[in-house]
Amino acid sequence: MNTLLLKENKQDIEKAAEILKNGGLVGLPTETVYGLAANALNGKSVAKIFEAKGRPMDNPLIVHIADFSDIEKYNLVSEIPKQAYKLADAFWPGPLTIIMKKSNIIPNEVSAGLSTVAIRFPSHPVAQRVIKASGVPLAAPSANLSGSPSPTTALHVINDLNGKIDAVIDGGVCDVGLESTVITLATEVPRVLRPGGITVEQLSSVLGKIDVDDAVVHKLKDGAVASSPGMKYKHYAPKSNVILLNCSDSEYIEYVNNRADDDVAALCCDEDIEHLEVCTYSLGRRNDYKAHAQNLFDMLRKIDDDGVAKTVYSRLPSIKGVGLAVYNRLIRAAGFEVIDLEKD
Ligand code: AMP
Ligand code: MG
Repeated sequence: MNTLLLKENKQDIEKAAEILKNGGLVGLPTETVYGLAANALNGKSVAKIFEAKGRPMDNPLIVHIADFSDIEKYNLVSEIPKQAYKLADAFWPGPLTIIMKKSNIIPNEVSAGLSTVAIRFPSHPVAQRVIKASGVPLAAPSANLSGSPSPTTALHVINDLNGKIDAVIDGGVCDVGLESTVITLATEVPRVLRPGGITVEQLSSVLGKIDVDDAVVHKLKDGAVASSPGMKYKHYAPKSNVILLNCSDSEYIEYVNNRADDDVAALCCDEDIEHLEVCTYSLGRRNDYKAHAQNLFDMLRKIDDDGVAKTVYSRLPSIKGVGLAVYNRLIRAAGFEVIDLEKD
């Protein structure tokens, strides 16, 4: 298959919509990461997403809409809970996915056999225009090969999926850089299953009491059932061995420099670069968590592309605000391997 590279003009958006209406797959920019879209109401089209990405069939997809009213228009859920209106008022369009009880219209391929469906109204104008032009909601997981870092540019999508999908629309670099926050309203107390651009603090300011799933910061115990199936898979991992250090800034520099050789690299901050004696990949200024989120996947991919570092050392991120989302992704990239220097 020849993968078309489309632009964000009217003609190309219509071309993308045509491909989607005919059951094809299109990579498209959103404010979180690039998504791989198919008609969410057509199980056969959705199945192609799993094939192209090599995604396990038991990992459900997020359904993308272009207006809150699309939930009723397409009859996506059995009931809209009160809290969904509050969340939508505060955070939609934007990087928040809301899980609700599904209706019968949702194909099994989308919900992976669960009784719920995940829904998001993205703010990216290109995503909105494609959804509207297609005239259907779009199932769209991240447009990467399953297990590799999510794509934040059209080139990342091409690198992973060229020849496996019909088209990709180039809309530049994604603003947030990490996948959406996922919250479920299908539990008694709303529960955050995945942290993202909308923070836990923001969510509780609207909803009051919310829970944060254990799997957000901890490894699932063997045999435990994941509330969000995606959390159980190895994710976001570059080929190098990522190790996280719980330590001060000066301890980090010393630890890494003591191990300086050709195989070691540092995933660090701008302020560290002049002090480090190894190859550096910076996430941005030290306290700029938004920049860390935006740059994380790009840096993990650069580490892979350069192919030199066997071991990459990074500091354990802060869990404040958007930091929690960076922590959640990085600790998975590290396979939960943390060296605690504070203990000594
Ligand atoms: P992705 O689209 O690649 O960002 O992945 C979607 C994430 O949302 C995965 O971690 C899924 O496991 C999760 N997800 C989607 N639908 C549901 C659902 N109905 N219940 C729980 N988690 C879900
Ligand atoms: Mg993904």
